[in-house]
Order: sequence, then C-alpha cells, then structure tokens
Amino acid sequence: MKATAFEPDAQGYWGAYGGRFVAETLVAPLEELTAAYAALRRDRDFQKRLAELRKDYCSRPTPLYFAAGLTEHARGARIFLKREDLLHTGAHKINNALGQGLLAVKMGKRRIIAETGAGQHGVATATVCALLGLDCVVYMGAEDVRRQQPNVLRMRLLGADVRVVDSGSRTLKDAINEALRHWVAHARDTYYLLGSALGPHPYPLMVRDFQSVIGEETRRQFLAREKRLPDVLVACIGGGSNAIGMFHPFLGDEGVEMFGVEAGGKSKRRGEHATRFARGGGGKPGVLHGTHSWVLQDDAGQIALTHSISAGLDYPAIGPEHAFLRDKQRVRYASVNDADALRGFELLCKHEGIIPALESAHAIAYAVRLARKRPPEQAIVVNLSGRGDKDLTTVADTIGSKDSA
Ligand SMILES: *Cc1c(COP(=O)(O)O)cnc(C)c1O
Repeated sequence: MKATAFEPDAQGYWGAYGGRFVAETLVAPLEELTAAYAALRRDRDFQKRLAELRKDYCSRPTPLYFAAGLTEHARGARIFLKREDLLHTGAHKINNALGQGLLAVKMGKRRIIAETGAGQHGVATATVCALLGLDCVVYMGAEDVRRQQPNVLRMRLLGADVRVVDSGSRTLKDAINEALRHWVAHARDTYYLLGSALGPHPYPLMVRDFQSVIGEETRRQFLAREKRLPDVLVACIGGGSNAIGMFHPFLGDEGVEMFGVEAGGKSKRRGEHATRFARGGGGKPGVLHGTHSWVLQDDAGQIALTHSISAGLDYPAIGPEHAFLRDKQRVRYASVNDADALRGFELLCKHEGIIPALESAHAIAYAVRLARKRPPEQAIVVNLSGRGDKDLTTVADTIGSKDSA
C-alpha cells in the first residue's frame, strides 16, 4: 500500500475507525480546533518555532543506539533503541505536549486542561505550560496518583493544579471522562491537550503528526548508519501514540515489519489485562472517548476494567489508526504480561545500564523474544518510549514481594 493510503478522510476516519462521537456542545470547539490545526500544518513560523524548541528545549534528535549487550544476550537479530527516554521530562509525551501547547497559544487559549495516566503526559503538559506561560489543570485517577507519586509532585512543582478523580476504576479512562466533562463546560477559553492518539477527530491525527518526529528521525538515522531500512520496528501501545509516531513514517515501506505490544497484565481473564486485540480478550469495535475503535468490553457492552503493571498501558481502548492498521495487516499486535515486562526491565538494566519505563519494558521484552527467532543480519529498532525513574517504587514492591515469597 502507498503511504497516502494511511491518511484519514476529512471526517477523521481511517476506514471504519475514528470520527467524532461527542456531545453537541463539543462539535463547534472541535471544528475550530480542526481548522486551526490545518492552518498550522502549513505555517512556516510555527514549524520553525516547533523545530527550535524540539532541539534546544526537548533535546531532539534523540540518539539511535545499537544495544550490543542486549543483542548479545538474545543471540539473534541486532537490536537498536530509539532513545526517547533521554528527552526532557523522560518520555515521548513532550513531543505532543509541545506541539499542542504552541497550537493553543496560536488559538489564543491561555488555559490548558489535560488528563494523565502514568503522570508522564501530565508532567509534559505542566512543563509546556510553564514554558509558555499558560494555566494548567491535570486530571488524574486516584489509583494512578497512588502509584505515581513522584510525577504528582513534579506536576505540582511545575505549577499545575492536579485534580484527583475518584470515579470508576480511578485510572486513565476516568481521568479522560473528567477532562472531557470539564471541556464541555469551558470550551470557549480552554484548550484540551489530549495525550495519546485517541479521542475525537482531529486528536488522533494531530497527536500522530507531532509524534511522527520519532519515526522520521529513526528513518534518517538508520539509513545514515546502515545504508538501508530496519527490518522490524517494535513499540509498546497504551493509546498508541509512541507506536504510531515510530511506525507512521515507515508505513509505505513494504519491507519493514511492525509490532505493537499491548499489556498482557496479570492473566488473560477479562479485567486483568489491557490487550484490546488479543483473541478472546474481550476487545471489540466500539466507541470510547469520542472515537470508534477497538474497546475492551463485557458481553453487555460495558467498558471492561483493565490491569497493567504500567499505568501508561492501562487503558481499555486503542487509537483508531491502530485498529485500521490491524485490519489491513500492516502492523501486527502482540502482548507481553506483567512478569515478562519486569524481566525486560531487568534485562535492559543489566545488559545496557538503562532503566526503562515499565511501558517500554514491554517492547524490550517482545523485541528480545523476536530477536531470538531472527538471524543476525536482521535489525530490530525498539522505541524506548521513556525512562524508569517514575516506576522504581512499583518495581521495588514487586521485587520485594518476590524476595519475601
Ligand atoms: C504514556 C506512555 C506510554 C503509552 O502511551 P502511548 O500513547 O501508547 O505511547 C508508553 N510509554 C511511556 C514511557 C509512556 O509514558
């Protein structure tokens, strides 16, 4: 398929997925946002300012690193890491927060609201708001507040008003509900800075565009180094933004295989994982948070509970472009459970001296699994979406309970 076959239509549909399923009051703000974003894509000043801040503030381009130690451990294909963990604030989320923050300024909105799961998007948004002089409110589920304390403190230090959400499963899904509810009431002066390739049109498109810098750099860096394209790309998938950012610039390259890695959680039982695409896992087409995609649900169509050791992957739906890419069989989707993600985490610490985010550890574990089955001539690039400082307590608790068992 040609690269253009992967663009959404004017209503934001990739095939049957995407669109805009929102309350009447949000239609006008979304139209305004769509028009502003379309104009901005062609705005030279905006592109220049974005490029400048990416370089000097975020520290892009991030390195493409050959992981010799991990490669030797796997004894198969060579493994490379795209080092998004080295970005300012420690994850890929800043790519999107910066782009949308600049857009909000252009639109004359001085007040930003955002949701957050692991806290990474909240930190990135609070950071960009401090940088650009904007007011910032972040919604976060109580369960995530509990397991991501350092990020809650960071957001508060950066001047954000963190609002704890106590409804539902008290995680990312509920934080998005609250943020959307608030936006309905305050759309005129408030910009909703959504954190993944999700939500009503134009968010999935816009977030993907701002994250595509990951894949664009990877393509350039790999070509310069190896004089060819990589064979395989691997990325973890919560809502799907780091993965689509890595994959999108390669979609037209037929020789490049791609794997999205979902959170296998504790078990395959419903409520204990976040694998929207796994057979028998409870995932089906449906609508959540304004977009039509694949959603984990029970037989009555109620949104299912989810679990993952990593807060950033703990979400019942997946971005609409991924649902489309799965149908087209352009990207394959796999899962890694909590225990194997922890093993991936330990492997990267031990063999490379890099402490990954638990989200990224899912991709590491899968890449090692894949590398073992592939010859040394092949090259796998893993998107190392973030660093693990925020996860140390979670890991300590888990290793602690293993030690005492
Ligand atoms: C938020 C997060 C993810 C998951 O979000 P996507 O939108 O799927 O990329 C993955 N890794 C890290 C480090 C994160 O912070």
